[in-house]
Amino acid sequence: MSGFGPSMEPLTALRPGIRRLVAPNPSMMTGPGTNTYLFGIEEIAVLDPGPVINRHLEAIQSTAGAPIRWILVTHTHPDHSPAASVLAQETGAELIGMPAPVGAHQDESFQPDRVLADGDQLVSDAFTLRAMHTPGHASNHVCFHHEASNWVFTGDHVIDGSTVVINPPDGNMKHYIESLRRLRSMGCAALVPGHGEVIHDPERAIDWIVEHRLEREGRVVAALQANPNLTPRDLVPHVYKDVDKKLYGLAERSLLAHLIKLEEDESARCSAGRWSFL
Ligand SMILES: [Zn+2]
Repeated sequence: MSGFGPSMEPLTALRPGIRRLVAPNPSMMTGPGTNTYLFGIEEIAVLDPGPVINRHLEAIQSTAGAPIRWILVTHTHPDHSPAASVLAQETGAELIGMPAPVGAHQDESFQPDRVLADGDQLVSDAFTLRAMHTPGHASNHVCFHHEASNWVFTGDHVIDGSTVVINPPDGNMKHYIESLRRLRSMGCAALVPGHGEVIHDPERAIDWIVEHRLEREGRVVAALQANPNLTPRDLVPHVYKDVDKKLYGLAERSLLAHLIKLEEDESARCSAGRWSFL
């Protein structure tokens, strides 16, 4: 789990009634690109149509081969949802998800016709998808359990080949780990991520992520104990010794997420922007 794998086929049939299209937006943050999923055969649900890229929108509509009735999004980050409102205008499909929270890096063009709550279901003749609210990476993040396969479509909650950014204040590490544990307890057969390939060993993958985060939290605690009263920026080199200096900006966001979790656990305190271990 260090670095994304090779580029992926643009269109893959994962099983009857579930197809994957990869949006042409590869990058360090998106890996091979954003995965868009199509459910159904005679009536189609589209999950995470991605950013507005005309050739991807055309690929979704030509691949569908049947009316697109529903458009779902896992969350409203710019690589997942902006094409949803465009596709809805073109197809008349119903937009389904949780609205964008206020803040940076949110797609406010996403205005759901149907606002999801945890446990809500989308039922068609060909599939049932059940929403699981999984805050952490984003406060409005939803995973979708596909009943017949026992697969969970994880958006950016779990991705293949890399760890996700937890960027406060919308990103929350404590919620993230709680949502991961809840996902693990479901006993699903596979995790189907928003970036990268299907993960066929869900429990092992989730355990690795939780262990990795808690190991990093241990380093944050050790750094705080050795260097009290530092700002997150000054703490970064003590915690992320293994990280390239070019990535210190991202590391600082992640560090802040750990510090806020420790504060929520009543293990750390912030005073005038400086952090101490309790
Ligand atoms: Zn995201």
